Amino acid sequence: MVAVIFVERCNGCSWCLDVCPHQIITLNKDNKAEIIEEKKCIECGACALQCPQDAILAHPHGCGCVSSVVRKKIRKILHLPEKSSQCC
Ligand code: SF4
Ligand code: SF4
Repeated sequence: MVAVIFVERCNGCSWCLDVCPHQIITLNKDNKAEIIEEKKCIECGACALQCPQDAILAHPHGCGCVSSVVRKKIRKILHLPEKSSQCC
């Protein structure tokens, strides 16, 4: 899975653009972050960790399960209570 950007949460700060090792994130005409070359995404998770708005989901380990970091972000976005991680 490549990184997924929830544009409704994006404030256009461009922090994710600065940390992407492949520089594949840009701001579109609406000043929202957008991945322009999904095939180049290595799922490093840097963009998701950097985003102050929790607007990006990306798997930082690539092991196929949902990492504790991503799980925590999902639970925060969905306003769910914290749970202990079962993997990663
Ligand atoms: S997960 Fe890594 S490679 Fe993919 S868009 Fe985010 S920073 Fe770039
Ligand atoms: S870091 Fe988050 S809020 Fe800032 S431009 Fe990227 S997706 Fe939008």
